[in-house]
Amino acid sequence: SIPLGYFGGIGAASRLGILFKGGNYLDAITKINTVVLDKTGTLTKGTFEVQECKSASGISEKELIGMVASVESDSTHPIAKAIVNYAKQQSVELSPVTGTKEYAGFGLEAMINGTPVLVGNCRLLSNFNIEYPAELLQITDTIVVCAIGTDYAGYLLLADTLKDDAKKAIDDLKMLHIKNIQILSGDKQSIVTNFAEKLGITSAYGDLLPEGKVQHLEELRQDGTNQIAFVGDGMNDAPVLALSHVGIAMGGLGSDAAIETADVVIQTDQPSKVAEAIKVGKLTRRIIW
Ligand code: ADP
Ligand code: MG
Repeated sequence: SIPLGYFGGIGAASRLGILFKGGNYLDAITKINTVVLDKTGTLTKGTFEVQECKSASGISEKELIGMVASVESDSTHPIAKAIVNYAKQQSVELSPVTGTKEYAGFGLEAMINGTPVLVGNCRLLSNFNIEYPAELLQITDTIVVCAIGTDYAGYLLLADTLKDDAKKAIDDLKMLHIKNIQILSGDKQSIVTNFAEKLGITSAYGDLLPEGKVQHLEELRQDGTNQIAFVGDGMNDAPVLALSHVGIAMGGLGSDAAIETADVVIQTDQPSKVAEAIKVGKLTRRIIW
């Protein structure tokens, strides 16, 4: 009978760490021909490590780390967690922070001792008309810059690594004849392209703000032949998860908003489970029909 088949499929998936929020998604996932993946936390571990730190003149490295980590202490972004950890390792004390504002895709603004402090990417500083060394734009790692008041104060470089099964995840999707595999990211284009090349993905879109990701999904949907699964983990991914035919969220690291909006939750955080979810869907269909 049909319900029993779907229950069987949902049960089989859950034993693999894949939670389907309804039998209809077991069916919908078999029709997917386009898989769009977020980079940070989905294909990469999302646990950045600080590689390098460079303060501007007039401020010590430790002071810079203290300022940046204090501002980041209110954020749940993977970059923020890495910087706060780094400050702890370096025994740098954090200062009290007030009025923290998070700008999705840019970074943060907050007050420390009555002075506004900005922490984020170069785009953030540009938006506040703060000048920084032009060579920072040439750096190919993930860079976090800081401004204290209206002055550029230095930067930190961070690196993220691919998850162990990221390559397998993409290879398995190709094996299932998914014709269109893409990466979307708010990170810099050069970084996104570099990861995409390692994974054998030719469509890599970087420098996207959350609304840019939404627009990308809307354009993909306009071609009615695209049946889209979006795979993401972040707090900013909820709108794109909602726009896709099947929204898939990473359940471990993922934000509550993403997990709530998703149709399928991967509890193990392994991107290779996306192909497995499609396989379970196909198997369930065979049993039902
Ligand atoms: P992704 O699409 O890779 O998940 P996000 O949209 O979360 O990326 O963020 C895009 C970019 O915005 C980051 O690469 C970083 O430059 C900047 N950013 C966002 N939040 C923070 C933060 N808390 N601290 C510093 N930079 C941030
Ligand atoms: Mg993200």
